[in-house]
Amino acid sequence: MAVQPYDPENIFAKILRGEIPCTKVYEDDHVLAFNDIAPQAPTHVLVIPKGSYTSYDDFALNASDAEIVAYTRAIGKISKEAGVVEDGYRLIANTREHGRQDVPHLHVHILGGEKLPRMLPGA
Ligand code: AMP
Repeated sequence: MAVQPYDPENIFAKILRGEIPCTKVYEDDHVLAFNDIAPQAPTHVLVIPKGSYTSYDDFALNASDAEIVAYTRAIGKISKEAGVVEDGYRLIANTREHGRQDVPHLHVHILGGEKLPRMLPGA
């Protein structure tokens, strides 16, 4: 199956254009982070690049070095500022159908603030 092109009508593209609101926790030239609308842990932040990338593989292969550095550093800064670094946290990037990605704009979930369930059933 061919990889779908970027859909500019996805909900995170609308957040980036200011068409729908978000609870912003971080922003720089290349990155926006906001609280997940349906948190699955006491800390649940979504970190997105401002560029139009569908997935981590798309981003890693096609983004500029400046975007990749900014995104990686932002995830570190946001995790630290959220207070989850000491006790630990989880990063998740669900990808396409098998990864059960609902919103087709790259986002990393930062989850923490409590001891999380094991990652996959039976793990
Ligand atoms: P995923 O299944 O990895 O694509 O995750 C999409 C995430 O986006 C889910 O955790 C949703 O709760 C979250 N989400 C959907 N709409 C919004 C929104 N308007 N603001 C914040 N988070 C959202």
